[in-house]
Amino acid sequence: MSEPADNQELACLISSLRMHLQRRERVGIRFVPSENLPNVTKSMTIERNVLGPEGDLFAESSPTAQAQNLEELRSAIGDCQRCKLWSGRTHLVFGVGNPRAKLMFVGEGPGRDEDLQGEPFVGRAGQLLTDIITKGMGLKRADVYIANVVKCRPPENRNPEPDEVASCEPFLKKQIDLVKPQIIVALGKFAVQTLLQSKVPITRLRGQWHRYQGIKLMPTLHPAYLLRNPADKKLVWEDIKKVMKELSSEST
Ligand code: SF4
Repeated sequence: MSEPADNQELACLISSLRMHLQRRERVGIRFVPSENLPNVTKSMTIERNVLGPEGDLFAESSPTAQAQNLEELRSAIGDCQRCKLWSGRTHLVFGVGNPRAKLMFVGEGPGRDEDLQGEPFVGRAGQLLTDIITKGMGLKRADVYIANVVKCRPPENRNPEPDEVASCEPFLKKQIDLVKPQIIVALGKFAVQTLLQSKVPITRLRGQWHRYQGIKLMPTLHPAYLLRNPADKKLVWEDIKKVMKELSSEST
């Protein structure tokens, strides 16, 4: 590559890094552990695919921000390596369901089964969510849209770390923007705290209506938690009944 082109690329990367760090600082991340620093040479090649002219990965002119539908967004995300979770994944688990769903479920991240199959909520917790949708709500899984906060499986199913959530959440927000659901059900602490930008425990948030970008949002417990604490299924059922009531009033 010629020297001017090198300088232009360097300026682009510095600008992108500055905006990336500012975004992380806004969500409370003040340092990056040295072992998490990306391979710069590798990242330069990959991230150029999603950079806008301003150098911000989510600039108005970037392919991710410009995506007009979910297929275009998935294509723009490509073989994402924006956070360290990419190295352990089998599949990037984007999302599934009706692209015009009235109801959207948002979970935390893929587990082992989801990573292997490339689809969210297909393991034991996923079966429980499917039961809630089909047996509880009388809907088909294909009627709703299902996605996660992080698209790649955290190792050993650990919690996603703040820098991983900060890197991946713009993809979720764009998905919501494209699907335009009437109601979001946020499953578990990470989905709720990410969308509401709140540190309030989910036990205090669940069961009450909140708003995300004007969309009604119902926080409830994650199906994986219910597998460990089946007595709390009744709490989720109470939340889901409120969602069903709201859905029926929205359609009349
Ligand atoms: S978790 Fe999200 S940001 Fe991280 S590599 Fe996967 S798709 Fe990219």
